[in-house]
Amino acid sequence: MQISIIGCGYVGLVTGACLAEIGHQVIGADSDPAKVAALKAGKVPIYEPNLDPLVASNLRAGRLSFTGDVGEAIRAGDALFICVSTPPLPSGETDLSVLDRAARQIASEARTPKLVIDKSTVPVQTGQQLQRALSIYGRKSSVNFSVCSNPEFLREGTAVLDFLHPDRIVIGVENEKDERMLREIYQPILDRRFNCPVHAAGCPPEDPPPFLVSTINDAELIKHASNSFLALKISYANLLADVCDRLSANVEQVTRAMGLDPRIGPQFLRAGLGFGGSCLPKDIRGFIWLAERVGVDFSLLKEVERINKSCVPRLLEKARKALWVLKEKQIGILGLAYKANTDDIRYAPALDLIQILLTEEARVRAYDAKAMEKTRAIFPSVQYTQNPYQVADGADALFIATEWQEFRDLDWSRVRDSMARPLVLDGRNLLDPQQMKALGFEYLSMGRPD
Ligand code: NAD
Repeated sequence: MQISIIGCGYVGLVTGACLAEIGHQVIGADSDPAKVAALKAGKVPIYEPNLDPLVASNLRAGRLSFTGDVGEAIRAGDALFICVSTPPLPSGETDLSVLDRAARQIASEARTPKLVIDKSTVPVQTGQQLQRALSIYGRKSSVNFSVCSNPEFLREGTAVLDFLHPDRIVIGVENEKDERMLREIYQPILDRRFNCPVHAAGCPPEDPPPFLVSTINDAELIKHASNSFLALKISYANLLADVCDRLSANVEQVTRAMGLDPRIGPQFLRAGLGFGGSCLPKDIRGFIWLAERVGVDFSLLKEVERINKSCVPRLLEKARKALWVLKEKQIGILGLAYKANTDDIRYAPALDLIQILLTEEARVRAYDAKAMEKTRAIFPSVQYTQNPYQVADGADALFIATEWQEFRDLDWSRVRDSMARPLVLDGRNLLDPQQMKALGFEYLSMGRPD
């Protein structure tokens, strides 16, 4: 079966490269000519562990190719994975205009029947709308389009691993033929029938992932409901951290014990600067908007959003208390990406932090091994350094905004000696408070006794 990917951003690239890796013939199409030129030359425009070699080897093997001619990919594919962006409008409503444009292209270019698989995160009932749009836009050609939903649960930073070892595959379909086609696409993953590029020494033993078949509406809802719940867990931990700060309790002790309860689980309970990235912030806003449209008051999620937005100001308040005045102070930022192992800065808490510091006329230096170029485009006045030690040099305070392992492994005595004042504000609870104090730092973190 020939597979085409419409939109080679984060999700499209990982999907295309992984589907090629498990044996399919894949064409990736993107409307951004610069991105396509880079990909054709074997350059992956995002940082994602394991992705570069996967793209390179599948290009070489002739299983994967890229084109800027979206029509060519549409005509060639039996199954079309739509992986375009679905950003929020100012109201929170999901902007589906990119998806609508893709639907027009599919309808006008297709000559043979197509299975149209939506991987973009969309509000429930979008699949129905897409099916309707395709038949209206394609009414002259009378090509048959069958729409289904296949939400993507990969996590940036471990995206290749997650795609090839998913905890579940969800498909929303309206008929058995579409279910069969999707099963065929994912069969090598269900059977563990591929050479895993992540586990060189062989994959750990595990059961095949559940293959969950639902209606299109349910599949769309599963994605929004999952992301909203994850956001809720993070905000819960962050609210606990605030309580702990005020009562001299330790949020890490509390969440560790909570997480050992299998009904709660340990993941997404880390207190810090809050969630960012291209998914959680926009998906909860879209979900709130959707619920309100149908008369459900989802103020629970509004609180999740409010708590998330309060995390950066809370850490800044600690900085203000310690530094008194921020103006003209030299402040270092370690980490810009919204989380470790990605160069994605969409909705990254570090951006809010920098914005406030610049507004208050602090002098800001920053370092992130992967995300500096993207941040430079937004904040050209920040001084970007070649290594983390240069960020610390002469600084009045050092913020940790991303949990990169590199920062855990720094020679912190060297950092201390180079700072004007050894003040560390750890927004990711990355370091051990006792060790930092023993090293002579003033060390402030989130929800742990100072
Ligand atoms: P992205 O912005 O990185 O990529 C979208 C790509 O689509 C861009 O390269 C753009 O040039 C291209 N594009 C837009 N219109 C096109 C068209 N008509 N034809 C061809 N290409 C077109 O977005 P992303 O992060 O990959 O997310 C895509 C979708 O997947 C979103 O709905 C997102 O919510 C969802 N999602 C993202 C993640 C994630 O971790 N990034 C995880 C799960 C789901």
